[in-house]
Amino acid sequence: METLVDSFGRQITYLRLAVTDRCNLRCTYCMPAEGAAIVERKELLTFKEMYRITRVLSELGVNKVRLTGGEPFVRKNFIDFIKMLSFNDRLDEINMTTNGALIAEHIEELEKLKVKTINLSIDSLDAANFAKITRRDVFDKVWDTYELLKKSSLKLKLNIVVQSGVNTSEINDFVALTEKEAIEIRFIEEMPFNGVGKRATEEVWNFNKILNEVKDGYKEVEKLPVLKSSTSHTFRVKGFKGVFGIIPAYTRTICHDCNRIRITSTGLLKNCLFDEGVFNVRDFLRNGANDTELKQLFIDLVSKKPKDGFVAEANRLKNKNVSESMSSIGG
Ligand code: SAM
Ligand code: SF4
Repeated sequence: METLVDSFGRQITYLRLAVTDRCNLRCTYCMPAEGAAIVERKELLTFKEMYRITRVLSELGVNKVRLTGGEPFVRKNFIDFIKMLSFNDRLDEINMTTNGALIAEHIEELEKLKVKTINLSIDSLDAANFAKITRRDVFDKVWDTYELLKKSSLKLKLNIVVQSGVNTSEINDFVALTEKEAIEIRFIEEMPFNGVGKRATEEVWNFNKILNEVKDGYKEVEKLPVLKSSTSHTFRVKGFKGVFGIIPAYTRTICHDCNRIRITSTGLLKNCLFDEGVFNVRDFLRNGANDTELKQLFIDLVSKKPKDGFVAEANRLKNKNVSESMSSIGG
């Protein structure tokens, strides 16, 4: 089988697919209060196009897909799309990242599909702080989703974007959740993908600072073995059921064995989160490309994957400073 291998010998087996650029929330670290600019509906990939892209990629060795957005559950008939994807027997896992405000009623159905893991974004355990961060009053709904997911057969990971002076005092409250629950908490370094760009913060909450904060709260923190191509380094407080991870999203120390590519909701292929998109696959499809041409395109594009996120950022031609919203990239 032909596979997707870049010039550094890294094989691509994981696709992050943004199914929409729309969102029901307005998280401050992701977009401005008025929302990120959204594209016209006809510019979004159709589900048929997404299905075809995924199928062709799966014939090149991609066996794992993460559905994200925007908020994936905002897209009409999203569940039908997951059903469609579940028929692809080359896919071992379909995972998704969601803000959880719209999914409670779908959990039973998700359990029956090929969905393995849900990454639930929850940046505060305090309803008022949560409303400040998301600019919407949905904490109770998200918390209900959290409770339902814990009881479900789906694997649950919580995503927390660590924001200086906003939720840093809650880091150890999140770790406390792992004492009795077999869940995984993941602290993500904040990146400037917020529709505005880098903002001034009092302190830089990078990987080491986050880890030191946990170690200040808990004396016995054990490092767990690093899984291949994992985005996070994982730890456990001795005796706790669950684990916590830290994702060095901005300090970018995980690029050496990256196995991921992204397709944005408008069909832009990104070899790296920090590049500005290397090719519009949607237009290629709409211009009549056949599957053989599509396969060759993916092989060629992936061969040019940059060494790491710093090289990708330096290679940007248009907007030198990263400032796009994560809702249009697909986190
Ligand atoms: N709407 C869904 C959600 O919030 O989970 C999925 C899309 S969201 C863009 C995917 C992930 O990116 C979320 O975990 C979110 O917290 C994270 N994210 C968004 N903006 C970010 C930023 N500026 N820095 C780091 N992570 C960010
Ligand atoms: Fe929406 Fe997710 Fe961005 Fe929050 S992080 S505004 S929920 S896309």
